[in-house]
Order: sequence, then C-alpha cells, then structure tokens
Amino acid sequence: MKQITGIQRMQKHCTGLKVQGEKIGFVPTMGYLHEGHLSLVKRSKKECSITAASIFVNPAQFAPHEDFDRYPRNINRDIKLLRKLDIDILFTPKTGEIYPEPFLTSILVDEITTIGEGVSRSRHFQGVNTIVAKLLNIVQPSVLYLGQKDIQQAVILKKMIQDLNMPTAVKLCPTIREKNGLAMSSRNIYLSPKGRKSAAALITALRAAKKMIKSGERDCKKITKKMEAAFDRFPEAKIDYILCADFESFKPVFVFERRAIIAIAAYVGNVRLIDNVILSPQGK
Ligand code: AMP
Repeated sequence: MKQITGIQRMQKHCTGLKVQGEKIGFVPTMGYLHEGHLSLVKRSKKECSITAASIFVNPAQFAPHEDFDRYPRNINRDIKLLRKLDIDILFTPKTGEIYPEPFLTSILVDEITTIGEGVSRSRHFQGVNTIVAKLLNIVQPSVLYLGQKDIQQAVILKKMIQDLNMPTAVKLCPTIREKNGLAMSSRNIYLSPKGRKSAAALITALRAAKKMIKSGERDCKKITKKMEAAFDRFPEAKIDYILCADFESFKPVFVFERRAIIAIAAYVGNVRLIDNVILSPQGK
C-alpha cells in the first residue's frame, strides 16, 4: 500500500494509473475505520483494478458547535486495517494544502440539502460536496463507493456528480450493523454501555416501520407515529427527525407508492445518530 500525502503527487500518480488503463475505485473516509468502511473497500477491491481510500477529517463539514476537535482519530490503526486488506493507495492530505487561504469555493446542491440532515446541519452538505469534488478531481476514480448509512449524503453527491458531468459512477453499499442492529459509525465510540442499549431505538423504530409497510400501510404520517411510539421504550433516546423521502429525488413523500427512504436521526445523550432503510411499497 502506497501512502500519499501531497495533492500533486496523488493527482500525478492517479493520472498515470488512468493512462495505463486502470480502473480506480475510491473510498473517501474520515478515518477511525470500522467494518462499514472496510465493506466499501472490499467491494472496490472486487470490482476495480486499483483501490484508493482517503482519510481526511474535513473541518468544512462541521459546524462550530460540532465535534471536529474530538472526532475520533487513530491513523496508525487505520493504516494497519487498510494494509491488511491490501489496498493500493491511501491518500492522507493535510488540511492546509486542501484549504489554502483564502479558500472561497463551495458547492451547493439545492433543495435536497435543506431537509433531513440539512435542517440541523445547515452548511454540512456544502462542506461534504466541496471536499468530495476536490477528492474526485485529485483521484479521478471510475467508481466512487458510498455507504447507505449516510443515504442523504449519497443522494446529494450522486446529484452533484450528475449535474457537474463528473466522469465517475456511484455505487451505494449496504449499511453494516453491530450485532444489536446499531449501524456502525465512528461516533459510536462516544456511547456509554447504557447509551448503546438506548441507541437500539433507531433500528427498533425502522423495523416497526418496515413491518407496517409490509402489512399494507401506506400513510407516512401513521408510519412516523408508530416509529415515535417505538422510542417510548428508550427514554434516553430523543428523536431529532423522521423523514420519508423518495429514493430517486429525496423529496419528502406522504404516501408510500414507490421505492422510498425512511431516515431517522436521534440523540442519545449528546451523541447524534442517524440510520435509514430503503423500502419498496411491498416492504422489501
Ligand atoms: P465517514 O468516515 O463517516 O465519512 O464515512 C465514509 C464512508 O463510509 C461513507 O460513504 C459512509 O456512508 C460509509 N459508512 C459509514 N458507516 C457505514 C456503515 N455502517 N455501513 C456502510 N457504510 C458506512
């Protein structure tokens, strides 16, 4: 595994690989890797001739009151995990080179960034879009691997790539979960043992929604109510939002008629967790 830090060096290296006809699969991450991240890497390894991953905790996607400074980091452990998977390139750029002063550009994808995660994290997606666009320009991958865990982010990035005619395909990979159903996340480290139990509220609510849809319910308001009720058993967990959105457009839906996403965000203490399911009207 080649570890590259300089932007120019990375861009040159990837350009060379492209000229040689290699198919580059790319997995951008903020590090503190878990099986969720590694599943994306494994998928890329299966489908591409070169797999590149990046580790960069992107300050531009954190609001001032959020957890940028205390976001978990362990680069040595991450390097070991990626070496074990035998990936080709690890890109670990420096913040100063990514955002030279003054940095004045940011990519706004309209409409679908103002609902769901966009409500409580207003400039978050602009930060995500900008860093991913920069990374795509540097790595020039044929395929970008994203996790369903961050479904709104994936829909937005797909739209950005389409709208800006970027020559990269997007592959969405399933959410990897812990034994109790909790979606794996670098932030799960913040949870106390009691908090981990309360965090099961999210998957419990999503499973309740799935069951209702399977038995024929189509009214999103009723489904949301049932999900809220599922939280009664977990008093430490507080819902931030529940959103039913169209799978293609991410526009809110009120009646379940086509493939849709049910997304949820909740606080367990001061830890904010997100999760979602993608469902057809048959509940599959
Ligand atoms: P992050 O390091 O949180 O920015 O995540 C990097 C990539 O890993 C994103 O595409 C995430 O959606 C994906 N990811 C994070 N957690 C999971 C998970 N539990 N299962 C699958 N993919 C995940």
